[in-house]
Amino acid sequence: MTEFTLPTYDDVAAATQRIQPYINPTPVMTSRSLNEALEAEVFFQCENFQRMGAFKFRGALNALLQFTPEQRKAGVVAFSSGNHAQGVALAAKLLSIPATIVMPLDAPAAKLAATRGYGAQVVTYDRYSEDREQIGRDLAEKHGLTLIPPYDHPHVIAGQGTATQALLAQTGPLDVLLTPLGGGGLLAGSALAARHLSPGITIYGVEPAAGNDGQQSLRAGKIIRIETPKTIADGAQTQYLGRYTFPLIQSLVDDILTASDEQLIAEMRFFAERMKMVVEPTGCLGLAAVRADKARFRGKRIGIVISGGNVDISRFGTLLAN
Ligand SMILES: *Cc1c(COP(=O)(O)O)cnc(C)c1O
Repeated sequence: MTEFTLPTYDDVAAATQRIQPYINPTPVMTSRSLNEALEAEVFFQCENFQRMGAFKFRGALNALLQFTPEQRKAGVVAFSSGNHAQGVALAAKLLSIPATIVMPLDAPAAKLAATRGYGAQVVTYDRYSEDREQIGRDLAEKHGLTLIPPYDHPHVIAGQGTATQALLAQTGPLDVLLTPLGGGGLLAGSALAARHLSPGITIYGVEPAAGNDGQQSLRAGKIIRIETPKTIADGAQTQYLGRYTFPLIQSLVDDILTASDEQLIAEMRFFAERMKMVVEPTGCLGLAAVRADKARFRGKRIGIVISGGNVDISRFGTLLAN
């Protein structure tokens, strides 16, 4: 860690150009019945249709595309509860960079298999007792690998922001933006894009009620650390915001809202039944927050980032059956 420069909107715009040849142009979808029920106009940025099934591909690609020839040759290491692992693994495969991924033992089977399927070497750890960052750092040091963290890195943040840049390019200015919040890469990058392209917009991050460290941090004015939260939203099971993501969120984001697992399951059902989409629990956070507070959002043009669709299909069935 040498310099400390926060990314800007220009970095998001540059990332959009840089990653464009590799990514899927994801659709912006709407639902008439939802708009009627909410008395609002909702636009979904569908990153569940992104390559590898989540927006994480954007940040990983933006980071790996800026490696030096030496870094490319030595390889990349990443630690992740799932989607970042797959994002880095796929980006590394496309760019012919060797990848080592540190993943929790209890990560969803589909995510472990997909990561190995992209040709990455997987190293597992116990997420309740071991420090994944330390494991990642040790591997980086021992083998000369470049560590790309899941959210707290300027290139990752700028890459994630391209999802919201793509949304606003299709919708024009919006009144409100909601994105899921884990470590804050998606929210910070999205806020950079949204503040620039739609200056009057109100921006919310939404995190699992069981792990509201982001909400606590914003209120306290400093990064609050919590135990690994027990929630079905495994993409947002983070313990703390980062030293890049927190100041960006503090200066650009209006507030942090929360949603319970029960609400997330209800929205998974909505997306499946009404919009014919498989959305993973974490991807449902934005809509859950809107439905929980209709009065706040009535009459607004609302952008919601659906962050991913990676959920074991048998688990998906089990969650919806209950
Ligand atoms: C990683 C992830 C998030 C949270 O993103 P952060 O940048 O860590 O805040 C949300 N949804 C999905 C599907 C993810 O994979």
